[in-house]
Amino acid sequence: MADNRVVEGRMVTPEKLAELIEGERVMDAEAIEDADRECPECGGNVLSVGYMPSVTEFVTGYKCQDCEWRDTDR
Ligand SMILES: [Zn+2]
Repeated sequence: MADNRVVEGRMVTPEKLAELIEGERVMDAEAIEDADRECPECGGNVLSVGYMPSVTEFVTGYKCQDCEWRDTDR
């Protein structure tokens, strides 16, 4: 897929990025986007991805490309 991105040195799909943020597999994920913000831990680029951890929930997750920092809009 064209929208795979490098995160912590690994190529990840939107589904894999959402899994890294959520800590478990998700049902569905949208395309990865740049979040236009800096990581508060290391100043690296932050990516965002919208995903569905369950059928009733939609979450926007944020993940630094360079370190383990992650967050969601919950
Ligand atoms: Zn970082």
